[in-house]
Amino acid sequence: MQIIRALDALKPALAQLRGSGDTLALVPTMGALHDGHLALVAEAKAVATRVAATIFVNPLQFNDPKDLARYPRTEEADLARLEAAGCDLVWLPTPAQLYPDGFATNISVRGVSERWEGEHRPGHFDGVATVVAKLLLAVRPTHALFGEKDWQQLAVIRRVEADLGIGVEILGHPTVREADGLAMSSRNALLSPEKRSKAVALPTALHAAGKEIGAGGAVGPALERAKAALLSGGFSTVDYLALVDSRSLEPLEKPREPMRLIAAASIGGVRLIDNIPVTLEQQVGR
Ligand code: AMP
Repeated sequence: MQIIRALDALKPALAQLRGSGDTLALVPTMGALHDGHLALVAEAKAVATRVAATIFVNPLQFNDPKDLARYPRTEEADLARLEAAGCDLVWLPTPAQLYPDGFATNISVRGVSERWEGEHRPGHFDGVATVVAKLLLAVRPTHALFGEKDWQQLAVIRRVEADLGIGVEILGHPTVREADGLAMSSRNALLSPEKRSKAVALPTALHAAGKEIGAGGAVGPALERAKAALLSGGFSTVDYLALVDSRSLEPLEKPREPMRLIAAASIGGVRLIDNIPVTLEQQVGR
């Protein structure tokens, strides 16, 4: 596996890697890698002949400096895991390389980025859209993989590709979960053992609400019950818990496929997000 740190080493390494006719799949990450990230690498290997990853904790997408400062960094272990997963190249840019003095461009996506994470983390999706566009333009992969765990992020990135025509196929990968159902996340490592065991209330509440709505139950009360379950189950705040159109991320008062339940809530000072698809059960005789 080639490890690239200097910007001027990237182009020749990529040229050599792609050779003639190879496809290249990119997996952008912020490091602190877990099995969810590695599932993206495995999927990348399945769709393309070459696989590259990036590790970059992007300061532009952190609206809270404390969150940036305590973001877990485990570079040595990350490199070992990427190599073992069969990654061909990893690029670790620095903030100064991606955002040199005078950097002034911002990619801002209207509509799909405005609610939910966009509302609770002002500037977050501008940072995501800007860095992802930069990484895609620098690496020029044929495919790029992103997790459905960050459902709104995936929708924003699909919008960027559709609008700017960078020429990359954007692929989403289903959320990888721990044995108890908690979505894998680099932030889980920040939870105390006690809060970690309680955090499973998040997927549990989403599944309970999804089942209720799928069976024809009223949306509002199902969402309220799920929020109450989070607050009584150890979460201190619920930023949002909503039923949304899967593509536009607009809230739904009545179920309409394709739809998802999305949520963000904090436990022990750690903010977690999750989402699940919801499907309507076939109602016989209606
Ligand atoms: P991050 O390092 O958190 O920015 O994540 C890098 C990529 O991995 C993003 O596309 C995430 O959506 C994806 N990812 C993170 N956690 C998971 C998970 N549990 N399952 C699947 N993909 C994930």
